[in-house]
Amino acid sequence: MSVCVQSGWQFSPPLALIGAVSAGVFLVALWVARQPYFSGRGTFVLLHAAMLWWLLAAGIEMGVQGASCKVLWASMAWPGIAAVPSLWAVFLWQYVNSIRTPLRPAAYLALSIGPLLACGLALVNPGQLFYGPLTAPLNGLPGAPVLYEHGPLFKAVAAYIYLFMLFSLAVVLRAALASQGLHRRHYLAFVLVTCVPWLANAAHLLYGWSLFGFDPTPFSFAFTLIAFTLLITAVRLFDLVPVARHLLLEQLPDPVLVVDAQGRVVEANPAALCLSGVSGGWQGRPLRDWPLLGGELQRLLQQGAETANSEPLLSLSEQARYFELRVRGIERMTRAGPYSLGQMLYLRDVTQRHLSELKLAEALAVSEERLRTITQLHGQLQDQALRDPLTRLYNRRYLDEFFARELARCQRECKPIALALIDLDHFKRLNDEYGHLVGDDVLREVAQLLTASLRSTDAVFRIGGEEFLLVLPGAEAGEAHKRLNSLCQQLAATPVATRSGALGVTLSAGLAHWPAQGLTLEALLQAADAALYEAKRSGRNQVCVLAR
Ligand code: GH3
Ligand code: MG
Ligand code: MG
Repeated sequence: MSVCVQSGWQFSPPLALIGAVSAGVFLVALWVARQPYFSGRGTFVLLHAAMLWWLLAAGIEMGVQGASCKVLWASMAWPGIAAVPSLWAVFLWQYVNSIRTPLRPAAYLALSIGPLLACGLALVNPGQLFYGPLTAPLNGLPGAPVLYEHGPLFKAVAAYIYLFMLFSLAVVLRAALASQGLHRRHYLAFVLVTCVPWLANAAHLLYGWSLFGFDPTPFSFAFTLIAFTLLITAVRLFDLVPVARHLLLEQLPDPVLVVDAQGRVVEANPAALCLSGVSGGWQGRPLRDWPLLGGELQRLLQQGAETANSEPLLSLSEQARYFELRVRGIERMTRAGPYSLGQMLYLRDVTQRHLSELKLAEALAVSEERLRTITQLHGQLQDQALRDPLTRLYNRRYLDEFFARELARCQRECKPIALALIDLDHFKRLNDEYGHLVGDDVLREVAQLLTASLRSTDAVFRIGGEEFLLVLPGAEAGEAHKRLNSLCQQLAATPVATRSGALGVTLSAGLAHWPAQGLTLEALLQAADAALYEAKRSGRNQVCVLAR
């Protein structure tokens, strides 16, 4: 330090430039330090501190007049010179990978070894292996810049620095290739910001190119500064886009997980962490081991690949929560085609909708069941309305409908219809003798006998107390007469079983034919009634038909 005490100081325009750049670097660092959401913020601020140190040392080297003092401050600049590329590499890595957790102190400590070692080597300059013996002022003028001879140790340190620069370039180029649109332009701007100081430094080291007689790298920070200021103010790089993305993911009430190609979870938003009850140490955990959701998600993903069903339902029945799973593949285009980097799993909370659907389905099932019951009851009611409760035969209400249908069919098919009006003989007497219940027994038995005699197209009705009507569609007069006679004889020959024992019962019947004896039901009933009257009058237990 004593060499600098005697050394004079001279202010120059390049010094003013260094001062202005330093002020700008300081302001950018200050602004970034105040940003709440910014990946790699800590590293970015440290990087600018290193830059400031470098600028400060370079400024002093320019300002002081003595050559030894200049060499001293050139050596003092090394912590900054070596730290800038390494911190820049770390910052870019954190920024492009959206890593917001700061680097561990141990890692920063490890990163500081190189810069401190470089500074130590420059200061001690063992065996003039850092700055060679030819290191001397450019000319004899006071304050003339020093021209440095680069020894092997200097070159080793330069190689160390260049490794970081290459890494930075690779990181940012990879990010630029993997992204599109606005993001690609951002990353390309980073490529430029990385390249300009690097080129200035390479020109200085390889070709001895200098600015105002000094290493142009610190001056090139002016470009870095302008570029960052533009990115911050015009493109709103550090705040708007990443913050918007970050906020969106952070504030999203729906869980989002990002899984890499090996099925490990690399990103999870607070909603996903909250749902699965995870708080820390989750980065890199395989998806299948992720609490609560993992196994089910893994299964759905495999199923999805097989069925190409893009939105399967994730059911967490214990929590009564339901999510629609949307999977978005994250790919990078390579010359060989798309290359999968991983997947984004977006879980849309559809609990409310799903529960409503379940309720609706339940309500639908209940109303379908009710409808079935109602339909059944309706059928029963209709049947009851059309049937006589004692004999279960059709009653008069159904006769009109049945006859109209059969009439239409027989008209179409040019077939006749026979109607037989049947009345039990002396039924009043039977009732009087044995009681009404026995009379009822007889009515039921006769109804059974009549039903048993029916063919598939025939029908029998109970149209009065002990009066029945047989409708025989398609039956010719002779055939109908024969069937009725047979019925009459069968009843007369077979005593009817009643609660008072077997009783002899007979019937009388009057036949009428369509179209021969009437065209309407009314006319036919009148004709049959007249024939029945004739049967009664002729002694009962017989079938009569009146010729027209
Ligand atoms: P006829 O040979 O001339 O027909 O003599 P009948 O005694 O059968 O005379 P009628 O046809 O006028 O008598 C009908 C009787 O049938 C009158 C009534 O007591 C009886 N009856 C009507 N409905 C029922 C019923 O539901 N159950 C019982 N047990 N008897 C009934
Ligand atoms: Mg009668
Ligand atoms: Mg009678």
